[in-house]
Amino acid sequence: MPKQARINGIKSYRCYTKAEAAALVGVSTRTFSNWTKDGLPLLDAYYPPLIRVNDLRSHIVAQREGRKVKTGLCELYCLPCRKSHLPAGGMADCKIDGNKVMLTALCGVCEGIVCKPISLSDLPEVRCKLDLTITQPEAAL
Ligand SMILES: [Zn+2]
Repeated sequence: MPKQARINGIKSYRCYTKAEAAALVGVSTRTFSNWTKDGLPLLDAYYPPLIRVNDLRSHIVAQREGRKVKTGLCELYCLPCRKSHLPAGGMADCKIDGNKVMLTALCGVCEGIVCKPISLSDLPEVRCKLDLTITQPEAAL
């Protein structure tokens, strides 16, 4: 899994060189060069070219938002497929523990095991759409 760039250590109102900025956010200078090719603006009137902190921060945030996958209420995210799918056969196991509900099912495409936590308040709606096998801890019965 690729390492995620850090944005916590970035100080406002500063400009950094490519090497300083790469070290600051914890990525290689090669990754940083790819970011500038992807549209991270450089202040190239200076030598070495400088990067404004606000540009750097918004580039990293936009990159993270672009990677997020929206999952519908009854869809589960499958890591091997890198997409969200409905569970195979519309069936899922449902484990209730207090206010926490964990859905476990098989991916509808690759049949790998997928899990998803949902809130107890969403359970009635999920139950209408999926065939759930509900288990509760024995203390609650
Ligand atoms: Zn899958």
